Amino acid sequence: MSDTGDLRELYQEVIFDHNRHPRNFGRLADANRVAEGHNPLCGDNVTVYLKLEGGRVADVKFEGQGCAISTASASLMSEAVKGRPVEEVEKLFRSFHAMIVDDNVAPEDLGKLEVLSGVKEFPVRVKCATLPWHTLHNALLGKHEAATTE
Ligand code: ZN
Repeated sequence: MSDTGDLRELYQEVIFDHNRHPRNFGRLADANRVAEGHNPLCGDNVTVYLKLEGGRVADVKFEGQGCAISTASASLMSEAVKGRPVEEVEKLFRSFHAMIVDDNVAPEDLGKLEVLSGVKEFPVRVKCATLPWHTLHNALLGKHEAATTE
């Protein structure tokens, strides 16, 4: 088996694990920002709860129902942004988006989020992976209308 095959298998394991056991799943009682997102193409729904404190994401949780990719992406996202300054979170959002939609951009400092890089080979799944991030972005902006991938 090639190295690429091994890596892909490892990435899939991480995605399956986050789908089966989503991290930071549930309602955040003391959230001061909330946003909802829908991906009509797949039927994914996600609600992102944030507790912003002193310019950083002090806490984050999410709820919703979606496919394996959207759930795993939301779970990985919650781990990646927790405790980070808002500016870094926005930068991470742009890097993650670029990794998935633009082949020419090398993922920089995406860490574990890189496991979702294979999604770009499946255009129909791209919106599943980016939905939680668009929703997070809206929560950070304090937007109340639902985020949509359309
Ligand atoms: Zn989906």
